[in-house]
Amino acid sequence: MTIATMESKTTTNSAKLWRMEAFIKALGDPSKWSYTGQVNDLTRPIGKCICGHAIRFEFVIENDGQIEKVGSECINNFMTINPTLYKSLKDADKALKEQIKEAKKLAKELELNEKIQPVKAEYDLLRTSIKKYVYNMRIQRRWADYDAYKIATTKTKEFVRLSSYLKYLETNVSYFKSTVERLGITVEA
Ligand SMILES: [Zn+2]
Repeated sequence: MTIATMESKTTTNSAKLWRMEAFIKALGDPSKWSYTGQVNDLTRPIGKCICGHAIRFEFVIENDGQIEKVGSECINNFMTINPTLYKSLKDADKALKEQIKEAKKLAKELELNEKIQPVKAEYDLLRTSIKKYVYNMRIQRRWADYDAYKIATTKTKEFVRLSSYLKYLETNVSYFKSTVERLGITVEA
């Protein structure tokens, strides 16, 4: 270990110690505190934990009418001194993180759906035009282009993953476009 890393380790440890001191100073006996069940999402780290650091999530704890707020990181400070509080805060933190993850997933899905709509419309329009071409060739008893025939008769695939579906549509749209151009097929909305 170099002197520089030793020094930085000492700084980190003393910062931790200093935070722990602030923690005990604010709460007195940490074993007397319990979780209120309330957690505030400030959306940005504009809150302040009892240890002094900036926090986004305020877990509200209570003791004899006194209210204080702790951040996610300081939950660990209760591990040995107040296991009940530690467990309820840990559970709340986990549930909160899952909720946020779920919300992000939903937002991403909505975003993908919006992207898919115009591509699907273009896909349908191009495919319908190619189908018309194949149909007309059949009426005229002429051989349809093989690519066009394949496009007209292959079913649209279904996907569970929206991102895969979007990729599939985009790839096909460019393939349909080149086929339409090559054969001089009219595309009409
Ligand atoms: Zn803290």
